[in-house]
Amino acid sequence: MSKVDKKRGKAGASLKDAMGLYGYMGKYKMIFIPSLAALFFTAALSLAFPYFLADLIGGPLGADHSDIDTTALAAKVNRVVLTLIAVLLVQAIISYFRVRGFIKAGESALTDIRKRVFANMVRLPMSYYMESRSGELSGRVANDLGVLRETLLTTVPQFARMIVTLLGGLVFIFIASPKLSLIMLCSIPLVILAIAIFGRKIKGFSKQAQDALADSNVVIEESVQSIADVKSFGNEDFEQNRYEESLSRFMGVTLQGAKARAAFTSFIIFTLLGTIATVVWFGAQMLIDGDISEGNFVLFVLFSIFVAAPLGSFPEVMSQLQKTAGATERIRELMDEPTEDLDRLAATIEIGGLELKDVEFTYPSRPDKKVLDGVNLTVEPGQRLALVGPSGSGKSTIFSLLLGFYNVDKGSVMFDGKSFDEVGLGNARAAMAVVPQEVLLFGGSILENIAYGRPGATADEVKEAAKKANAHDFIDEFTEGYETLVGPRGVKLSGGQRQRVAIARAILADPKILLLDEATSALDSASELLVQEALAELMKNRTSLIIAHRLSTVKDADKILVVQGGAIAEQGTHDELMAKGGTYKLLAETQFNS
Ligand code: ADP
Repeated sequence: MSKVDKKRGKAGASLKDAMGLYGYMGKYKMIFIPSLAALFFTAALSLAFPYFLADLIGGPLGADHSDIDTTALAAKVNRVVLTLIAVLLVQAIISYFRVRGFIKAGESALTDIRKRVFANMVRLPMSYYMESRSGELSGRVANDLGVLRETLLTTVPQFARMIVTLLGGLVFIFIASPKLSLIMLCSIPLVILAIAIFGRKIKGFSKQAQDALADSNVVIEESVQSIADVKSFGNEDFEQNRYEESLSRFMGVTLQGAKARAAFTSFIIFTLLGTIATVVWFGAQMLIDGDISEGNFVLFVLFSIFVAAPLGSFPEVMSQLQKTAGATERIRELMDEPTEDLDRLAATIEIGGLELKDVEFTYPSRPDKKVLDGVNLTVEPGQRLALVGPSGSGKSTIFSLLLGFYNVDKGSVMFDGKSFDEVGLGNARAAMAVVPQEVLLFGGSILENIAYGRPGATADEVKEAAKKANAHDFIDEFTEGYETLVGPRGVKLSGGQRQRVAIARAILADPKILLLDEATSALDSASELLVQEALAELMKNRTSLIIAHRLSTVKDADKILVVQGGAIAEQGTHDELMAKGGTYKLLAETQFNS
């Protein structure tokens, strides 16, 4: 979220904070409140059922059997039944709209929550992703949203109905017999005690169970993602064990949670039915002593059963609500996690040159290793700078810092003499395009994959970029041309073809600065030539920073920096560094592809 949004959002957010995620219902109150009212109304109407039933049974029972007017009684019974049917009909019609309304309001609010969670997720800083495994994150979000959905659509209406039935039922019970009602109410403290004892346990276990389930989803996701490795290493058994182990952890906590839930359920059932039995026993005594009429006794018993039946599902509802509390907490954590400030500053700032000044950096996930220690580098606008050095020396880290994925510990990153704050993270990233070593294409057409460089580009612009990137010819050879699907479920492009798609993407993005991580793997000479030509086209009139693996690239560079152990060991042109006869010369002779 931007700074501005944060400020604007404050007042609105406090209500949402107070209400938790249910605050998201607020937007749909025009549907939600009438639906809730309809729910209360239908729940209240459902009380008519035991009421009329009592009337039906109580009437004949209470009548004086010696001179019973059967015709009048039959007429009354028929009237009662007809009224009951009419009431049930009204209830059915209102229920239809209530259920529809609830689903609409609930799903709409959930959709908003999903959107918001995802919007936040993609803006979380890189360090967040380094600390949590991506499978865990996505699995957890999916699980937690599932729990929330069930609660919003099923448990909340169920809970509301239960409350109305309970309160309404109690009124009738009180009318029927205050004395019996008081005996019945004695069981309430017991129920509250049980909630206090078991509720916390259930919440704890279900949060652990959700976590364990998320862990097992990570195994699935990782295995599927790298299925080729799983197979080539013959590690099917290993992955199967890994999955089974995480599932058994899940089962462990689930079974422990089941104990708490089962104990809670049986306690509540025993208390409820025990209370009813006790009360009916008292009632029978009162009936014998003539303290209560037969009609009232029937009313009392029917209402007690009617109230008790939904209370039977009380433990389920409570544990679902506890479970939701856990899930909601995590969704909110994710929503409240500070995001990157990507607002482009009002003025578009043209950036051409880069500078790292005395940069020191340690990855937050690995605090004991200083990855960059006093790096200085300057790239003038339009210059071509090559970074070379052994693997692990910190070259990619330099790219990450330029892209603002992490903050430097010491020193500064400057763009034409301005800091990130002055330029704005959004502007800085917009000025740069990255061509990575391993190009990942995502599911979609080639056209979409190239257009990712500048969403909204026209098909002609995409083709133009593809031509410049030497990609047009091979794309044209596919029967479906630019509409050919690539990525996980589409055709597989060769390494050289993927690189040219990535180059076309960057050409389309038309950045001032290019961060290029040259592929280490040598391509066959024909595609190598095509890629080199495409890169030459891409680098024209741009500032480029290249992690170089080829002799031809470094020879063409304006300046070469040798990175070693997180510092710049040597710098100069190819000829200067060769003459010097240091690390560079060694690298040039042993490591570079031609
Ligand atoms: P190069 O690009 O020169 O091969 P890198 O910049 O990738 O080197 O890595 C420099 C050092 O930082 C290595 O020791 C590497 O293990 C470490 N490193 C890289 N990425 C991370 C990360 N996300 N978390 C922790 N350490 C990392």
